[in-house]
Parts: sequence; structure tokens; C-alpha cells
Amino acid sequence: MKIQAPKGTFDILPYGCGEETWRQSGLWQYVEAIIRQAASEYGYLEIRTPIYERTELFDRGVGETTDIVSKEMFTFKDRSERLMSLRPEGTASTARAFVEHNLSLHGSAHKFFYIGPMFRYERPQSGRYRQHHQFGVEAYGPGGPEQDAEVIDLLLYVYRWLGLKNLTVHINSVGDADSRAKYRDALVQYLKPHVSSLSEESQVRFEKNPLRILDSKDPKDKELVQHAPSILKYLTPEAEKHFHAVCHLLGKLGIDYVVNDKIVRGLDYYNQTVFEVLTNDLGAQNTIGAGGRYDGLVAQFDGPDIPAVGFATGLERVLQVMMAQQTPWNAPAGPFVYFIPLGDEAKETCFLLAAQCRKAHIPASVELMAKKVGPAIQNAVRAGAVHCCVIGIDEMAKGRAVLKELATRQESEISLEIAELERLYARRTD
Ligand code: ATP
Ligand code: MG
Repeated sequence: MKIQAPKGTFDILPYGCGEETWRQSGLWQYVEAIIRQAASEYGYLEIRTPIYERTELFDRGVGETTDIVSKEMFTFKDRSERLMSLRPEGTASTARAFVEHNLSLHGSAHKFFYIGPMFRYERPQSGRYRQHHQFGVEAYGPGGPEQDAEVIDLLLYVYRWLGLKNLTVHINSVGDADSRAKYRDALVQYLKPHVSSLSEESQVRFEKNPLRILDSKDPKDKELVQHAPSILKYLTPEAEKHFHAVCHLLGKLGIDYVVNDKIVRGLDYYNQTVFEVLTNDLGAQNTIGAGGRYDGLVAQFDGPDIPAVGFATGLERVLQVMMAQQTPWNAPAGPFVYFIPLGDEAKETCFLLAAQCRKAHIPASVELMAKKVGPAIQNAVRAGAVHCCVIGIDEMAKGRAVLKELATRQESEISLEIAELERLYARRTD
């Protein structure tokens, strides 16, 4: 039996595969390059944390009653019987690293970003994978509304740069601890007469963490929650001030948003601002990015009491929206010259020319398989080559050959001196 990739995972291939055009590595490289550039323009620095951590980190950091921890974690024992989990998200690991390395000693504000795989044991379906990838940011230090607005602005800047259209920002406040305690009472009062009609899961949530019910995906729960009291009515004056200030700044930045008092987000660590970015182009899995403020998390890991705000966006969903909206994108450039030998005599010449090119940092490739020019040119096109250059006995004797630009079919005769290729490469316009 042929071995296949595990259920809910996928390969990212150089040529894409059938309908799943978003699985081309060139597209991923294009998107990741834009993300890195955008993060850098906003002053965020990269952090890389391990793919697995002690399970305890997520139990404590994400919250034991959340879907992620209670149902979705890939947990295993290492050979010394320690409980480990593949990371389901990046926020807890970033906070752990921040505390472990005393990064607070390096200044009062810290802005991190990460790109990498996350693991959740979900029922595989379109837009939902067991290994998916997230771009996320975490900004530690500033507790004011400017920092909330900046991360939302960065997320939308990335989406805009990638060319995504028709996105909606939903924003809410879950207030501070006082606001939530008062709201929790009101929500419990409202739900009490309906407990038996809640989904089984939400009946457990009702006992353990009633706010979580607002995040339920069960249609009956959703219906009930529609008429639940609004958390925005229970905000303390400070929480209300913060929320209004964030909305004001978004307005100043020209960002359209919808206030949605039912967003609580699926993780326990949030307070104050929470937000989601939605698309209509993906069917059921319509959230492409989400985040919020989590001021208590770093202190919870025995670090300094430092406020924090961040977001994470799923790259699969971003790429799928790009494909659904036929967003233009560019694959990274392939070889500048693709040498095609005519006959065995020319093989070594081509091979050595390509080697010289690479020494001069000119990307180059040689056709080593095809016996005919036609199929060789097809190979050059598939490799993303800019030019091809066919070399036979005549060209070798003259030291000159025709350079053909594959996109325009324009031809020019060049000398086979490396200096000439260097000149051409320096003048390229891509
Ligand atoms: P959902 O409500 O869709 O389950 P979530 O609340 O679990 O999402 P977050 O934990 O906020 O999602 O993760 C951030 C982003 O990561 C999501 O907005 C989504 O784009 C992406 N994401 C989360 N889980 C998956 C998954 N299993 N497969 C693909 N992308 C995912
Ligand atoms: Mg989820």
C-alpha cells in the first residue's frame, strides 16, 4: 500500500496540484515575502519557538475549557513520560519565550511576529486542517488603544497588499475582569431557563465558562445567543473608554468595522478588544484572521505584568481567498538563463556556462534530459526561466548564441562570455 500524508495535512508542491492551486510553493513564498516585508515596515521582529511544548503551557495559557485544549490538541508522552503537545497556536509559546529569556530587560515595548505550522486535531473539512499555518503578531508593552489599532491596521495592510477584497472587520470588547464578572451573571440569568435546550457541550460550558457559549458553532446555541444581553452594556467606564478609543482610531485610519457584541474568541486569555476579519468567499470557514488584547497572559507565566495585544491569521484561508478572487501574484523568478545543449558535445559547454553564471550570482539551469529543443523549452517554462539559450556545435565554434526571452519570444544574439551575461543580468527589469 502506498503511504499517504496523514489525514488533515497536505503537501505544498512546486507545481500546485489540480484544483488545489493554493498549494503551490511559489504562492506561499510570494505571500510570506509580503508578510515579512509588512511586519518589518511596522517594526515587528521575528520570533521562532519550538513546534512542541509542554502540554501544561497550553492548559494554562490557552485555557482548559477552550475547544483547542479540551478537544483539539495533539498530545503525546516523550520517552521520559513528560506530556508534550504540538503547538495549536503561537501566543502561549511567545509569552513563554518572553518570560524564559527575560526579554522585558531589553526595553519596555516588544513587537514580535511569527509564521509557522500549528496543529489541531480537527475533523478535516474544507478550510480546516490538522496542520495549518499562521502568521501572527504579539505586541507587548503599550496598554493603550493605539497598540490595538496598530495591530488591526497591520493585519488589514497585509490583506490589502495581497489584494484581498470584500473583507469585514468585526470588533467587540470583552472588557476587564469586573466587566466580565457582571456580564457573566447577566448571561447566566438569561440562559438559565434554556439550559436544557443548549447543546451538550454548551451545557458543560454553562457550568464551567458560560461566556464560551457565545463562541459556539451549534446552530441552536447560536440562535439562543442572538438574543442574549450585550456585553457592551456591562463594560466598566475604563473598559468602555478603551473600546471607544480603539474604534475612534480605526475611524481615523479609514478602517471600516462592524461592532459585533457576540465575539468572545475561542481562547481564555482575552480581555478588552477582540476582533475577527471575515470573508464571504470561503463558505463555512469564514474567519480568516482574529485577535485581541490579553493583558494578563505574561504575568500568568510568572513574567512581568505587561499588557499585550496580537492577532493570528490562517495562511491556508488567505491563499484560498486569493485563489477564489483570482488575485494576481508573481512566482519568485526562476533561472535567468536556461541552457539547452544540442547534442552531447554541447552538454559540457552548457554545464560549465551554468556553473560560471552561478559563480557570478546569475541564476542558471541546464537541460540534462530532453533530446529535442521543443520539450526542453517546455521544461524551461515550467522551471520559470526568463531566457533560454540553445547551444550546438555552431554556437560553440562561434562563441555566440541566441538568447530567447520566453515570455516575449524576443531573440537577441549574445557572446557566450560571462561578462556579457553579467551585463544583461544587471540590466534586467524584474
Ligand atoms: P475557527 O472558529 O474557524 O475554528 P479559531 O477561533 O479556532 O477558528 P484561531 O484560534 O483564532 O481560530 O486561529 C487563527 C486563525 O487560524 C483562524 O482565523 C483561521 O484562519 C486559522 N485556523 C484556525 N484553525 C484552523 C484549521 N484547523 N485549519 C486552517 N486554518 C485554521
Ligand atoms: Mg477552531
